[in-house]
Amino acid sequence: MNNLYDVNNIFAKILRSEVPCNKILENEYALAFSDINPQAPIHTLVIPKNPYINFHDFTKNASTKEHESFWTLVNAVIEHYKVEVEGFRIITNSGNNGNQDVPHFHIHLLAGVNLGRMMN
Ligand code: AMP
Repeated sequence: MNNLYDVNNIFAKILRSEVPCNKILENEYALAFSDINPQAPIHTLVIPKNPYINFHDFTKNASTKEHESFWTLVNAVIEHYKVEVEGFRIITNSGNNGNQDVPHFHIHLLAGVNLGRMMN
C-alpha cells in the first residue's frame, strides 16, 4: 500500500462495510455505487477495492488484473444504465488542483441528461 494512503477515508470505510453505500455492481477488484450528492440523474462512482490514492497511483501501481477488472466494471455500469449510445461523462479528480475530496481513486460516471460543456 502507498504509505500516504489514508485508511480512514470514507471510501475505505465503505469497502470495510463500516459505512453503507447504494451498491450498483461489483466484481473481484472494483465496486460501483451511487454518489451521495448526485450531479446528474445518473451519478455513479467506481473505485478499486485495493488502496490507491488517485489516478496516477492506480495507473502506475495496480496489477493488470486490477486494471482489467476496474475498466470492465465501468463498462458494466454503462451497460447497466444503457447509456452506451446516448452518452455519458467520466471524470476523475486528483490532488489539490483537481479538487479531489476523497483520497481513494475513483471515477465519476455522469449520465442521464445532456451534461453541457466540460468547463464553465
Ligand atoms: P471527489 O471530489 O472527486 O473526491 O469526489 C468525491 C465524491 O464522493 C463526491 O461527489 C461526494 O458526493 C461523494 N461521496 C462522499 N461521501 C460519500 C458516501 N458516503 N457515499 C457516496 N458518495 C460519497
